[in-house]
Amino acid sequence: MPPIFFDAETLRMREIVGTNLQRVRTRIGEAAARAGRSAEDVTLVAVTKQVGVKEAEALLAWAARDLGENRPQELWRKAAAVHGEVRWHLIGHLQRNKVRRTLPLVSMIHSVDSLRLLRALEQEANQQQLALRVLLEVNTSAEPAKHGFDPEELIKTRPEWLALEHVRIEGLMTMAALVADAEQARPAFRKLRELRDRLQGERLYLPHLSMGMTNDYEVAVEEGATLVRIGRALFEGLEPSAGSSDAREAAAR
Ligand SMILES: *Cc1c(COP(=O)(O)O)cnc(C)c1O
Repeated sequence: MPPIFFDAETLRMREIVGTNLQRVRTRIGEAAARAGRSAEDVTLVAVTKQVGVKEAEALLAWAARDLGENRPQELWRKAAAVHGEVRWHLIGHLQRNKVRRTLPLVSMIHSVDSLRLLRALEQEANQQQLALRVLLEVNTSAEPAKHGFDPEELIKTRPEWLALEHVRIEGLMTMAALVADAEQARPAFRKLRELRDRLQGERLYLPHLSMGMTNDYEVAVEEGATLVRIGRALFEGLEPSAGSSDAREAAAR
């Protein structure tokens, strides 16, 4: 059981996280309204990679239950340590040797970036007899260093998706290039939506678009995001956390 009474520092941290969450939720609502959409159609995935277990639990206290991690091992660690009901989202690269352990823990994998991985997921989901929800990651900025399918390559693989029995492809995900002005990310988000529209139909329903981070989530919502992945904006004003994976890695160096 988590403690019922908290020390002053924890209470202060929870208050800051709550205020940040409120602000981000308001902005998501405003961006949705500008696009004639409902705020309820946008799920906030709170990215906890830069914070520890306490901060993740603070999010739960404010009813943010969709939490995201970009590294499988860190997701395993937090899934074991965080008290409360979490829907875990894996949003970063998954190596095939980590598939088995990751599968039973996640609500959705956003970052399926190759056919090889897709096939490995189908095989393991069959083994574990579970239904797995995934998104295919698309490299919309054509940066060679980035993970993800090239859009044309993705279209060619479509026949193979229809044969999957345990993996359910629910949409697409992208990371926009780092830009100075969020407006510059708009073409990448629009491209993802248009690609989804082209792929959808004929036995394929692709309701989800995972796009938008702290820098550009409002533009992403205007362009149709159904999942936004936000980290930094939720933890502004907090001391750097000793419990984060980044901090522990720095200490180990
Ligand atoms: C870290 C991360 C995010 C969140 O980024 P912020 O800038 O902290 O909002 C979103 N998506 C992915 C894939 C990430 O790795």
